[in-house]
Amino acid sequence: MSRPRRLARALALLLFCLAAWPGASSAAESLIELEPGIVTQGQVVLLKVCLPGQAFEAQALRARFLGQEAPLVRGVGGCWVGALAADLNASPGPHEIEVKAGEMTLARRQVKVAAKDYGTRQITVAQKYVAPSREQLDRHQGEMERQRQAYSTLDPVPLWRGPWLAPLDAEVVGIFGRRSLVNGEPRSPHGGVDLRGGVGTPVRAPAAGRVAYLEDTYFGGITLLIDHGLGLISGYRHLSEAKVGPGQEVRQGQVIGLVGMSGRVTGPHLHFDMHLMGARVDPLAWVATSRRLALMLGGS
Ligand SMILES: [Zn+2]
Repeated sequence: MSRPRRLARALALLLFCLAAWPGASSAAESLIELEPGIVTQGQVVLLKVCLPGQAFEAQALRARFLGQEAPLVRGVGGCWVGALAADLNASPGPHEIEVKAGEMTLARRQVKVAAKDYGTRQITVAQKYVAPSREQLDRHQGEMERQRQAYSTLDPVPLWRGPWLAPLDAEVVGIFGRRSLVNGEPRSPHGGVDLRGGVGTPVRAPAAGRVAYLEDTYFGGITLLIDHGLGLISGYRHLSEAKVGPGQEVRQGQVIGLVGMSGRVTGPHLHFDMHLMGARVDPLAWVATSRRLALMLGGS
């Protein structure tokens, strides 16, 4: 690189960092574009930040939000692109998004997290069916810990291109986010969608990725998690059979398992869920949003 160009780049970086200093500038705030401009519990927003010059080309940028750091990647026009989400239980109100390179904050923006009521249902069942034994609870805790590890060891780079597909073209029989009161006691909200399907119906990878977890769990039965990169992990539960193994790379449309009724279920269906940096998000809404992200990333 020529000396004047190097100087220009250093100056651009200096001015940029000054602008990004806390409270110094509204320009740094306006650098972060969000789609949509509000974050709803259980939903994904797309983030775009266009930085002057090429000063950060070699550095990995991240967007810090709600205690998590989502990776950003270069998209169309050289702007940085990523996805953020608020978990179903994220606290509503104003929160800050910070775009960081290392420990340096390059841009920040306030955004509102909006509460969403996905509905509540009351269920009454015999007590012996809702109180797992100590042994069953211990088993569940171990399984949850291994799943949390899968959610926190993510590939920062997207492993897929283009829009996603639904894993099963079927009717939704259990909606995302609905809360349950079982014998009057609140349970965790439904973290995915239940799709109708008979035992043995093929389940297809909605996008390319890598198998991050496979275990026959107490509640979820045969459970498969696929890391797609960029902070996204999709999950498939109650399978009768998995057709892929841990660490295996999968391509879009590949049969990854078969619908079943393993685990704690009353009938066969596919529970399909999605985590973005550990936050539970509406998987079918994400399938629609992925079209927009594909355009921002320059995918087909
Ligand atoms: Zn479910």
